[in-house]
Amino acid sequence: MKTKMNILFATSEIYPLAKTGGLADVSAALPAALRKLGLDARVLLPGYTQVLAALPEARPLVSLTLPTHGAVRLLSATMPDSGVPLIIIEHAGYFERSGSPYQDGSGQDWPDNYLRFGLLSQLAALLASATSPLAWHVDILHCNDWQTGLAPAYLHFSGTAAAPTLMTVHNLAYQGIFAADTCALLGLPPESFSMQGVEYYGNLSFLKAGLFYADQLTTVSPTYAEEIQHETLGFGMHGLLQSRHDALTGIVNGIDTDAWNPASDPHLPRHYSAARMTGKAVIKQLLQQELGLNPLADAPLFGVISRITPQKGQDLVLAIAPQLIQSGAQLAILGSGDSVLELALRRLASTYPGKVSVVIGYDEGLAHRIEAGADIFLMPSRFEPCGLNQMYSQRYGTLPVVHRTGGLADTVVDATDTTLADGSASGFAFDSATPGAFLTATQRALALYVNPVQWKKLRKNGMQRDFSWESSARQYQALYQSILATDAPVA
Ligand code: ADP
Repeated sequence: MKTKMNILFATSEIYPLAKTGGLADVSAALPAALRKLGLDARVLLPGYTQVLAALPEARPLVSLTLPTHGAVRLLSATMPDSGVPLIIIEHAGYFERSGSPYQDGSGQDWPDNYLRFGLLSQLAALLASATSPLAWHVDILHCNDWQTGLAPAYLHFSGTAAAPTLMTVHNLAYQGIFAADTCALLGLPPESFSMQGVEYYGNLSFLKAGLFYADQLTTVSPTYAEEIQHETLGFGMHGLLQSRHDALTGIVNGIDTDAWNPASDPHLPRHYSAARMTGKAVIKQLLQQELGLNPLADAPLFGVISRITPQKGQDLVLAIAPQLIQSGAQLAILGSGDSVLELALRRLASTYPGKVSVVIGYDEGLAHRIEAGADIFLMPSRFEPCGLNQMYSQRYGTLPVVHRTGGLADTVVDATDTTLADGSASGFAFDSATPGAFLTATQRALALYVNPVQWKKLRKNGMQRDFSWESSARQYQALYQSILATDAPVA
C-alpha cells in the first residue's frame, strides 16, 4: 500500500487568498491536513491579482505556450500559514483583474470563464499526465467543483498515461455551463460532445464532464452523496450520479478546531471546556445583556446563525417561534439574505421584545458569542451538503436541533433512549421539514434541558466529538489508496 502519495489538489479558491464559499476553506485546510499525515499534497490555483499580491516571493517554475490560451507561466510559492506548496497559474489576461474570481464588480459572470477555468482544468490534466513539464510526479489528481471539471475529460482524451482522478462536489448548484461551440475552442474532440461525455442539454457542462470522466467522485457528506442521486436534490445531475453510484461516496468536512475552541476563542468574554463549564453560563448572561434579552439564567436560549434563505429553513423558525416563546424560551438570531424573510424576522423581534433578538448582518464575533452563549442551536435546513454550525455548536456545548438531511444527518446523533444510554447522543434530529416535526424536536430538547444531569451529559458528548480535519483527511487518504489500488496494472 502506497503511503507517500503525491496529490495535486486543483481548485479555484483558497482561504484567505481568494474566497467566495466553503471550497476556499476546504482548499486551505485539507491539503495541510494531508501533509501532516505524510502525503505530499500541492495546490494548483489561478494567479488572481490578490493571490499574486499576497505571494511576492512566488518564483517561476516553467513557461508554456498553449493553443487558444497563449503564453502561461507556472509559479511556485507556499501558503503563508500552513506552508502548503502552491503551483500558481500566471496568465495576466485571464486572472489579473479586479472583481471576484468568477464575476466582475457588478456581479456579472466574466464572459471568458470557460477560457479561464478551461485553462485551470487543462493545466491540472497536463501536470497529472506523463507529459507534465514538472519533475514532481502526480499520483492522484483531486479536482474540486466545476472550475476543474474538464480536467478528467482532458486526461481521458490525452492519449498518454495519467494519474487517476477524484472529483469532489462542494456545490452542485454551480455547473459551469457554456455554449456548445466552446467545446472545440477548448480543444476537446468532437466525440466528447455527447450524452456519454461533456454535453449537457445541448451545452458544455464542466461539472458534468468531471462527474462523467473522473475515476471516483465524492461530496461533502455520505447522506448528501445519497440524496443527490434523486431528483429533489440532484440539480439535474441525479441520473448521471445514479449511474455512477458505485464511484460516489461522501466525506464530511472538518472544522477549524483552533478558531472554534471555547477554551481559547478570542471572541469570547470568558472561556470554558467540557471539564469546566462555568464560563458558558457567564457568556449567556453577557449575551442576553448585549442583545437586550431579559436577564433570565434559566430561560432556554435558542441560537440561529445562518444565511437567511429558503434553503436554511428560517421560515420554519418563524413558524414555531411563538410556541417556543410561550414555553419560556428566548431566541437569538444572526444572519442576512432574503429580504422578505429578513423583514419577517425583524417583525418577530419587535413582537417579542426581551425575548427575541434579530441581528441582520454578518458578524463573526457575535456568531462565536451566540454559539457559546446559547443553550440550543437551530438548523432546520431543507438541504445541507455538509454544514458547519451544527459542528461548532456541539463543540461549544450548544446542542443542535437539525433537519435530518445531508451533513446534518451525518454529524448530529439524535438523542434517543439508546443513544442517551450509550453516551453518543449529541443533539436532536427531525425527519420532515415541517413546523410540526421541528417543534416536536425542540420540545424533546426542552424536556431534557430541564434535567440538569442529562443535559450536562449531552453537552459533554457533543463537546468531546472529533470534528477535526485530521479525521476527514484520513478518510481522503484511505480513498486515494483505494483509487491507486484499483488503478494499478494487474501483475
Ligand atoms: P453555508 O456555507 O451554507 O452558509 P455552513 O453552516 O456550512 O452554511 O457555514 C456557514 C458559515 O458562515 C459558518 O461559519 C457560520 O458561522 C457563518 N455565518 C453565516 N452567517 C453568518 C453571519 N450572519 N454572521 C457571522 N457568521 C455567519
